[in-house]
Amino acid sequence: MTTNTLPIPFLDLVSPHKELEGELVEVFRHALATAGFIGGPAVEAFEREFALFCRTKFCVGVGSGTDALRFALLAAGVGAWDTVLTVPNTFIATTEAISQTGARPEFIDVDPRTYNMDPVKLAEYLDTHCTFSQARGKMVHNQTGSVIRAIIPVHLYGQMAEMDPILYLARKYNITIIEDACQAHGAQYYSAEASSWQQAGSMGKAAAFSFYPGKNLGACGEGGAVTTNDEEIARRIRMLRDHGQAKKYYHDVEGYNGRLDAIQAGILQTKLRYLPEWNEKRRKLAARYCELLADEAHIRLPHEPAWSKAVYHLFVIQVPDRDGLIKYLAQEGIGSGIHYPVPLPQQRAYASLSLRPGLYPVAEEAARQIVSLPMFPSMTEEQQQRVCEAVRQYIAASVVAA
Ligand SMILES: *Cc1c(COP(=O)(O)O)cnc(C)c1O
Repeated sequence: MTTNTLPIPFLDLVSPHKELEGELVEVFRHALATAGFIGGPAVEAFEREFALFCRTKFCVGVGSGTDALRFALLAAGVGAWDTVLTVPNTFIATTEAISQTGARPEFIDVDPRTYNMDPVKLAEYLDTHCTFSQARGKMVHNQTGSVIRAIIPVHLYGQMAEMDPILYLARKYNITIIEDACQAHGAQYYSAEASSWQQAGSMGKAAAFSFYPGKNLGACGEGGAVTTNDEEIARRIRMLRDHGQAKKYYHDVEGYNGRLDAIQAGILQTKLRYLPEWNEKRRKLAARYCELLADEAHIRLPHEPAWSKAVYHLFVIQVPDRDGLIKYLAQEGIGSGIHYPVPLPQQRAYASLSLRPGLYPVAEEAARQIVSLPMFPSMTEEQQQRVCEAVRQYIAASVVAA
Protein backbone atom coordinates (compact mmCIF):
# COMPACT_ATOMS: atom_id res chain seq x y z
CA MET A 1 0.00 0.00 0.00
CA THR A 2 1.38 3.43 -0.92
CA THR A 3 1.03 6.34 1.50
CA ASN A 4 -1.30 7.78 -1.07
CA THR A 5 -4.06 5.36 -0.17
CA LEU A 6 -3.88 5.71 3.61
CA PRO A 7 -7.10 7.16 4.96
CA ILE A 8 -7.05 10.79 6.09
CA PRO A 9 -8.97 11.25 9.33
CA PHE A 10 -11.20 14.26 9.96
CA LEU A 11 -9.28 14.77 13.19
CA ASP A 12 -6.17 13.05 14.55
CA LEU A 13 -6.18 12.90 18.34
CA VAL A 14 -3.75 10.00 18.55
CA SER A 15 -0.46 11.54 17.34
CA PRO A 16 -0.38 14.58 19.68
CA HIS A 17 -0.96 12.27 22.64
CA LYS A 18 1.78 9.93 21.48
CA GLU A 19 4.15 12.89 21.23
CA LEU A 20 3.29 14.15 24.70
CA GLU A 21 2.93 10.73 26.30
CA GLY A 22 5.90 11.14 28.65
CA GLU A 23 4.68 14.46 30.02
CA LEU A 24 1.07 13.35 30.30
CA VAL A 25 1.91 10.12 32.12
CA GLU A 26 3.92 12.23 34.60
CA VAL A 27 0.76 14.20 35.38
CA PHE A 28 -1.08 10.99 36.14
CA ARG A 29 1.80 9.66 38.28
CA HIS A 30 1.81 12.84 40.30
CA ALA A 31 -1.94 12.63 40.88
CA LEU A 32 -1.59 9.01 42.05
CA ALA A 33 1.31 9.85 44.32
CA THR A 34 -0.55 12.69 46.02
CA ALA A 35 -4.07 11.27 45.64
CA GLY A 36 -5.15 14.82 44.87
CA PHE A 37 -7.86 14.14 42.33
CA ILE A 38 -10.36 16.97 42.78
CA GLY A 39 -9.43 20.64 43.09
CA GLY A 40 -6.17 21.55 44.77
CA PRO A 41 -2.92 23.07 43.44
CA ALA A 42 -3.06 21.45 39.97
CA VAL A 43 -6.43 23.05 39.25
CA GLU A 44 -5.35 26.42 40.67
CA ALA A 45 -2.13 26.38 38.64
CA PHE A 46 -3.99 25.69 35.41
CA GLU A 47 -6.57 28.38 36.22
CA ARG A 48 -3.80 30.95 36.70
CA GLU A 49 -2.13 30.04 33.42
CA PHE A 50 -5.33 29.93 31.40
CA ALA A 51 -6.37 33.33 32.78
CA LEU A 52 -2.97 34.69 31.69
CA PHE A 53 -3.42 33.13 28.26
CA CYS A 54 -6.87 34.74 27.89
CA ARG A 55 -5.69 38.00 29.48
CA THR A 56 -8.40 37.91 32.09
CA LYS A 57 -8.15 38.38 35.84
CA PHE A 58 -9.90 35.13 36.71
CA CYS A 59 -10.41 31.62 35.40
CA VAL A 60 -12.55 29.01 37.11
CA GLY A 61 -12.16 25.41 35.97
CA VAL A 62 -15.40 23.46 35.65
CA GLY A 63 -16.60 20.06 34.47
CA SER A 64 -17.35 20.90 30.82
CA GLY A 65 -18.07 23.70 28.39
CA THR A 66 -21.76 23.17 29.07
CA ASP A 67 -21.17 23.71 32.81
CA ALA A 68 -19.13 26.81 31.97
CA LEU A 69 -22.02 28.31 29.98
CA ARG A 70 -24.63 27.36 32.56
CA PHE A 71 -22.62 28.66 35.52
CA ALA A 72 -21.68 31.88 33.74
CA LEU A 73 -25.34 32.59 32.98
CA LEU A 74 -26.45 31.75 36.53
CA ALA A 75 -23.66 33.82 38.07
CA ALA A 76 -24.69 36.76 35.86
CA GLY A 77 -28.20 36.52 37.30
CA VAL A 78 -29.99 34.88 34.38
CA GLY A 79 -33.01 32.88 35.50
CA ALA A 80 -36.68 32.02 35.05
CA TRP A 81 -38.69 34.28 32.69
CA ASP A 82 -35.58 35.85 31.20
CA THR A 83 -34.70 35.74 27.51
CA VAL A 84 -31.18 35.07 26.25
CA LEU A 85 -30.23 35.75 22.63
CA THR A 86 -27.89 33.52 20.69
CA VAL A 87 -27.40 32.12 17.18
CA PRO A 88 -29.29 29.29 15.44
CA ASN A 89 -26.15 27.53 14.17
CA THR A 90 -24.36 26.61 17.37
CA PHE A 91 -23.93 23.34 19.25
CA ILE A 92 -27.00 22.62 21.38
CA ALA A 93 -24.99 23.07 24.61
CA THR A 94 -25.36 26.85 24.16
CA THR A 95 -29.16 26.71 24.31
CA GLU A 96 -29.27 23.85 26.83
CA ALA A 97 -27.39 26.10 29.22
CA ILE A 98 -29.89 28.90 28.61
CA SER A 99 -32.95 26.69 29.14
CA GLN A 100 -31.46 25.03 32.20
CA THR A 101 -31.26 28.38 34.00
CA GLY A 102 -35.02 28.68 33.43
CA ALA A 103 -34.56 31.31 30.70
CA ARG A 104 -35.76 31.08 27.13
CA PRO A 105 -33.47 31.13 24.10
CA GLU A 106 -34.20 33.40 21.14
CA PHE A 107 -32.20 33.36 17.94
CA ILE A 108 -30.46 36.04 15.89
CA ASP A 109 -29.41 35.05 12.38
CA VAL A 110 -25.76 35.10 11.37
CA ASP A 111 -23.51 36.88 8.90
CA PRO A 112 -23.20 34.71 5.76
CA ARG A 113 -19.46 35.24 5.56
CA THR A 114 -18.37 34.62 9.15
CA TYR A 115 -21.25 32.33 10.30
CA ASN A 116 -21.31 34.43 13.47
CA MET A 117 -23.99 36.64 15.02
CA ASP A 118 -24.91 39.47 12.66
CA PRO A 119 -24.81 42.70 14.71
CA VAL A 120 -27.18 44.41 12.25
CA LYS A 121 -29.79 41.70 12.80
CA LEU A 122 -29.23 41.93 16.54
CA ALA A 123 -29.91 45.68 16.41
CA GLU A 124 -33.02 45.05 14.26
CA TYR A 125 -34.33 42.45 16.69
CA LEU A 126 -33.86 44.78 19.67
CA ASP A 127 -35.46 47.70 17.77
CA THR A 128 -38.50 45.86 16.46
CA HIS A 129 -39.24 43.26 19.17
CA CYS A 130 -38.21 45.00 22.37
CA THR A 131 -38.65 48.23 24.30
CA PHE A 132 -36.32 49.68 26.87
CA SER A 133 -38.13 50.06 30.19
CA GLN A 134 -36.76 53.14 31.92
CA ALA A 135 -38.40 52.01 35.16
CA ARG A 136 -36.67 48.67 35.21
CA GLY A 137 -33.51 49.75 33.40
CA LYS A 138 -33.95 46.69 31.19
CA MET A 139 -34.78 45.74 27.63
CA VAL A 140 -38.16 44.00 27.60
CA HIS A 141 -39.64 41.81 24.89
CA ASN A 142 -42.85 43.42 23.57
CA GLN A 143 -44.89 40.22 23.30
CA THR A 144 -43.68 38.06 26.17
CA GLY A 145 -42.76 40.82 28.64
CA SER A 146 -39.59 38.89 29.30
CA VAL A 147 -36.35 40.74 30.10
CA ILE A 148 -33.53 40.34 27.53
CA ARG A 149 -30.98 39.50 30.18
CA ALA A 150 -28.05 38.21 28.18
CA ILE A 151 -26.58 37.67 24.72
CA ILE A 152 -24.31 34.74 23.90
CA PRO A 153 -22.24 35.43 20.79
CA VAL A 154 -20.55 32.18 19.73
CA HIS A 155 -17.04 32.35 18.24
CA LEU A 156 -17.93 29.54 15.86
CA TYR A 157 -15.29 27.41 14.15
CA GLY A 158 -12.61 29.43 15.99
CA GLN A 159 -13.55 32.69 14.25
CA MET A 160 -14.39 35.76 16.33
CA ALA A 161 -17.88 37.22 16.38
CA GLU A 162 -17.93 40.94 15.56
CA MET A 163 -17.76 42.09 19.16
CA ASP A 164 -17.60 45.92 19.06
CA PRO A 165 -21.14 46.52 17.76
CA ILE A 166 -22.51 43.67 19.92
CA LEU A 167 -20.85 45.12 23.03
CA TYR A 168 -22.14 48.57 22.10
CA LEU A 169 -25.75 47.33 21.96
CA ALA A 170 -25.27 45.42 25.21
CA ARG A 171 -24.06 48.56 26.98
CA LYS A 172 -26.83 50.68 25.47
CA TYR A 173 -29.58 48.32 26.64
CA ASN A 174 -28.00 46.95 29.82
CA ILE A 175 -27.68 43.39 28.56
CA THR A 176 -24.96 41.00 29.76
CA ILE A 177 -22.60 39.44 27.23
CA ILE A 178 -21.44 35.87 27.84
CA GLU A 179 -19.05 34.69 25.11
CA ASP A 180 -19.27 31.08 23.98
CA ALA A 181 -15.56 30.61 23.28
CA CYS A 182 -15.78 26.81 23.35
CA GLN A 183 -14.27 26.63 19.83
CA ALA A 184 -11.99 29.65 20.04
CA HIS A 185 -9.10 29.14 22.49
CA GLY A 186 -6.57 31.81 21.51
CA ALA A 187 -8.58 33.54 18.77
CA GLN A 188 -8.26 37.33 18.68
CA TYR A 189 -10.48 40.26 17.78
CA TYR A 190 -9.25 43.71 16.82
CA SER A 191 -11.41 46.12 18.74
CA ALA A 192 -11.46 49.49 16.99
CA GLU A 193 -13.05 50.83 20.15
CA ALA A 194 -10.09 49.77 22.31
CA SER A 195 -7.57 50.13 19.42
CA SER A 196 -6.06 46.76 20.31
CA TRP A 197 -6.25 43.03 19.76
CA GLN A 198 -8.38 41.26 22.37
CA GLN A 199 -8.36 37.60 23.32
CA ALA A 200 -11.45 35.45 22.84
CA GLY A 201 -12.97 35.08 26.27
CA SER A 202 -11.84 38.47 27.58
CA MET A 203 -14.50 40.75 26.10
CA GLY A 204 -17.80 39.83 27.71
CA LYS A 205 -18.88 39.77 31.33
CA ALA A 206 -17.68 36.16 31.29
CA ALA A 207 -16.80 33.51 28.73
CA ALA A 208 -17.18 29.75 28.48
CA PHE A 209 -14.47 27.41 27.22
CA SER A 210 -14.74 23.67 26.57
CA PHE A 211 -11.83 21.26 26.87
CA TYR A 212 -13.65 18.39 25.20
CA PRO A 213 -10.86 16.23 23.66
CA GLY A 214 -11.39 17.44 20.08
CA LYS A 215 -11.27 21.18 20.89
CA ASN A 216 -8.12 23.23 20.15
CA LEU A 217 -7.16 22.74 23.80
CA GLY A 218 -8.57 19.37 24.80
CA ALA A 219 -8.45 17.33 28.00
CA CYS A 220 -8.13 13.54 28.12
CA GLY A 221 -11.74 13.48 29.27
CA GLU A 222 -14.23 16.25 30.08
CA GLY A 223 -13.34 19.75 31.14
CA GLY A 224 -14.27 23.41 30.82
CA ALA A 225 -13.57 26.85 32.23
CA VAL A 226 -15.10 30.26 32.72
CA THR A 227 -12.92 33.32 32.27
CA THR A 228 -13.93 36.73 33.62
CA ASN A 229 -12.57 40.03 34.90
CA ASP A 230 -15.37 40.23 37.46
CA GLU A 231 -14.37 38.99 40.89
CA GLU A 232 -17.95 38.50 42.06
CA ILE A 233 -18.80 36.36 39.01
CA ALA A 234 -15.69 34.24 39.62
CA ARG A 235 -16.64 33.79 43.29
CA ARG A 236 -20.17 32.70 42.42
CA ILE A 237 -18.96 30.21 39.84
CA ARG A 238 -16.52 28.67 42.32
CA MET A 239 -19.53 28.08 44.58
CA LEU A 240 -21.84 26.85 41.83
CA ARG A 241 -19.34 24.25 40.62
CA ASP A 242 -18.98 22.88 44.17
CA HIS A 243 -22.50 22.37 45.56
CA GLY A 244 -22.91 26.01 46.49
CA GLN A 245 -20.27 25.88 49.18
CA ALA A 246 -17.34 28.22 49.81
CA LYS A 247 -16.50 26.27 52.96
CA LYS A 248 -16.96 22.50 53.13
CA TYR A 249 -20.52 21.54 54.17
CA TYR A 250 -21.65 25.17 54.55
CA HIS A 251 -23.93 25.73 51.56
CA ASP A 252 -24.89 29.31 50.74
CA VAL A 253 -26.93 28.20 47.74
CA GLU A 254 -27.78 24.98 45.96
CA GLY A 255 -25.10 24.34 43.39
CA TYR A 256 -23.89 21.57 41.12
CA ASN A 257 -21.19 18.95 40.88
CA GLY A 258 -19.30 20.73 38.13
CA ARG A 259 -15.63 20.68 39.04
CA LEU A 260 -12.54 20.29 36.90
CA ASP A 261 -10.52 17.35 38.20
CA ALA A 262 -6.82 17.59 39.00
CA ILE A 263 -5.66 15.10 36.36
CA GLN A 264 -7.42 16.99 33.58
CA ALA A 265 -6.08 20.29 34.94
CA GLY A 266 -2.53 18.93 34.88
CA ILE A 267 -3.00 17.60 31.36
CA LEU A 268 -4.44 20.92 30.21
CA GLN A 269 -1.60 22.87 31.80
CA THR A 270 0.89 20.71 29.89
CA LYS A 271 -0.97 21.07 26.59
CA LEU A 272 -1.51 24.81 27.03
CA ARG A 273 2.22 25.30 26.41
CA TYR A 274 1.74 23.84 22.92
CA LEU A 275 -1.50 25.62 22.10
CA PRO A 276 0.03 28.73 20.43
CA GLU A 277 2.11 26.49 18.14
CA TRP A 278 -0.89 24.24 17.37
CA ASN A 279 -3.06 27.26 16.59
CA GLU A 280 -0.37 28.66 14.32
CA LYS A 281 -0.28 25.34 12.45
CA ARG A 282 -4.06 25.46 12.05
CA ARG A 283 -3.81 28.99 10.67
CA LYS A 284 -1.15 27.92 8.16
CA LEU A 285 -3.22 24.92 7.09
CA ALA A 286 -6.25 27.18 6.65
CA ALA A 287 -4.27 29.64 4.52
CA ARG A 288 -3.01 26.78 2.38
CA TYR A 289 -6.49 25.29 1.97
CA CYS A 290 -7.63 28.71 0.75
CA GLU A 291 -4.76 28.87 -1.75
CA LEU A 292 -5.32 25.36 -3.07
CA LEU A 293 -9.08 25.87 -3.46
CA ALA A 294 -8.98 29.53 -4.46
CA ASP A 295 -9.93 29.27 -8.14
CA GLU A 296 -12.94 27.00 -7.58
CA ALA A 297 -16.01 29.05 -8.44
CA HIS A 298 -18.36 26.57 -6.76
CA ILE A 299 -16.72 26.61 -3.35
CA ARG A 300 -17.31 29.23 -0.71
CA LEU A 301 -14.20 29.48 1.47
CA PRO A 302 -14.03 30.76 5.04
CA HIS A 303 -13.77 34.53 5.28
CA GLU A 304 -11.47 36.04 7.87
CA PRO A 305 -12.20 39.75 8.30
CA ALA A 306 -9.27 42.09 8.99
CA TRP A 307 -10.42 42.33 12.62
CA SER A 308 -10.26 38.58 13.27
CA LYS A 309 -7.41 36.16 13.90
CA ALA A 310 -9.22 32.87 13.73
CA VAL A 311 -7.84 29.65 15.23
CA TYR A 312 -9.66 27.30 12.83
CA HIS A 313 -11.12 24.81 15.22
CA LEU A 314 -12.90 23.75 12.03
CA PHE A 315 -12.26 24.53 8.38
CA VAL A 316 -15.70 24.90 6.84
CA ILE A 317 -16.50 25.40 3.18
CA GLN A 318 -19.83 25.60 1.35
CA VAL A 319 -20.57 23.62 -1.81
CA PRO A 320 -23.81 23.15 -3.75
CA ASP A 321 -23.93 19.35 -3.41
CA ARG A 322 -22.64 18.85 0.09
CA ASP A 323 -23.96 15.34 0.70
CA GLY A 324 -22.49 14.13 -2.61
CA LEU A 325 -19.11 15.58 -1.73
CA ILE A 326 -19.09 13.92 1.70
CA LYS A 327 -19.90 10.57 0.13
CA TYR A 328 -17.15 11.00 -2.46
CA LEU A 329 -14.59 12.00 0.18
CA ALA A 330 -15.54 8.94 2.25
CA GLN A 331 -14.93 6.72 -0.80
CA GLU A 332 -11.51 8.30 -1.11
CA GLY A 333 -10.84 7.54 2.54
CA ILE A 334 -11.14 11.16 3.64
CA GLY A 335 -13.05 12.10 6.78
CA SER A 336 -15.31 15.16 6.95
CA GLY A 337 -18.11 16.53 9.11
CA ILE A 338 -21.13 18.87 9.21
CA HIS A 339 -21.23 21.53 11.92
CA TYR A 340 -24.20 21.52 12.16
CA PRO A 341 -26.70 19.79 9.88
CA VAL A 342 -29.90 21.11 11.52
CA PRO A 343 -30.23 24.68 12.89
CA LEU A 344 -31.36 24.61 16.53
CA PRO A 345 -34.78 26.24 15.88
CA GLN A 346 -35.57 23.25 13.62
CA GLN A 347 -34.42 20.60 16.10
CA ARG A 348 -37.13 18.41 17.57
CA ALA A 349 -35.97 19.47 21.05
CA TYR A 350 -37.22 22.99 20.24
CA ALA A 351 -40.46 22.07 18.49
CA SER A 352 -42.33 23.77 21.34
CA LEU A 353 -40.80 27.13 20.37
CA SER A 354 -42.73 26.88 17.06
CA LEU A 355 -40.00 28.57 15.03
CA ARG A 356 -40.91 27.90 11.42
CA PRO A 357 -38.34 27.32 8.67
CA GLY A 358 -37.44 30.56 6.89
CA LEU A 359 -36.96 32.67 10.02
CA TYR A 360 -33.16 32.33 9.90
CA PRO A 361 -32.39 32.15 6.17
CA VAL A 362 -28.62 32.51 6.43
CA ALA A 363 -28.14 29.80 9.04
CA GLU A 364 -30.63 27.56 7.23
CA GLU A 365 -28.91 27.87 3.88
CA ALA A 366 -25.50 27.30 5.45
CA ALA A 367 -26.79 24.16 7.17
CA ARG A 368 -27.60 22.70 3.72
CA GLN A 369 -24.22 23.51 2.17
CA ILE A 370 -21.50 23.38 4.79
CA VAL A 371 -18.80 20.71 4.99
CA SER A 372 -15.96 20.64 7.50
CA LEU A 373 -12.73 19.39 5.91
CA PRO A 374 -9.99 17.60 7.88
CA MET A 375 -8.22 20.06 10.18
CA PHE A 376 -5.72 19.18 12.91
CA PRO A 377 -2.27 20.56 13.71
CA SER A 378 -0.37 17.42 12.67
CA MET A 379 -1.97 17.35 9.22
CA THR A 380 0.70 17.11 6.50
CA GLU A 381 0.95 19.06 3.26
CA GLU A 382 0.62 15.80 1.37
CA GLN A 383 -2.62 14.97 3.17
CA GLN A 384 -3.93 18.45 2.47
CA GLN A 385 -3.02 18.13 -1.19
CA ARG A 386 -5.01 14.92 -1.43
CA VAL A 387 -8.06 16.41 0.27
CA CYS A 388 -8.03 19.37 -2.12
CA GLU A 389 -7.55 17.16 -5.17
CA ALA A 390 -10.51 15.04 -4.13
CA VAL A 391 -12.66 18.12 -3.54
CA ARG A 392 -11.74 19.57 -6.95
CA GLN A 393 -12.33 16.28 -8.72
CA TYR A 394 -15.77 15.93 -7.21
CA ILE A 395 -16.76 19.51 -7.95
CA ALA A 396 -15.53 19.27 -11.55
CA ALA A 397 -17.45 16.01 -12.12
CA SER A 398 -20.67 17.19 -10.44
CA VAL A 399 -20.68 20.53 -12.25
CA VAL A 400 -20.32 18.75 -15.61
CA ALA A 401 -23.10 16.32 -14.65
CA ALA A 402 -25.50 19.12 -13.61
C1 LIG B 1 -18.09 21.99 22.54
C2 LIG B 1 -19.03 23.14 22.62
C3 LIG B 1 -19.81 23.37 23.77
C4 LIG B 1 -19.93 22.41 24.91
O1 LIG B 1 -18.77 21.98 25.48
P1 LIG B 1 -18.74 20.58 26.28
O2 LIG B 1 -17.39 20.63 26.93
O3 LIG B 1 -18.88 19.49 25.30
O4 LIG B 1 -19.83 20.60 27.28
C5 LIG B 1 -20.58 24.53 23.79
N1 LIG B 1 -20.62 25.38 22.76
C6 LIG B 1 -19.90 25.16 21.64
C7 LIG B 1 -19.98 26.16 20.53
C8 LIG B 1 -19.10 24.03 21.54
O5 LIG B 1 -18.42 23.82 20.40
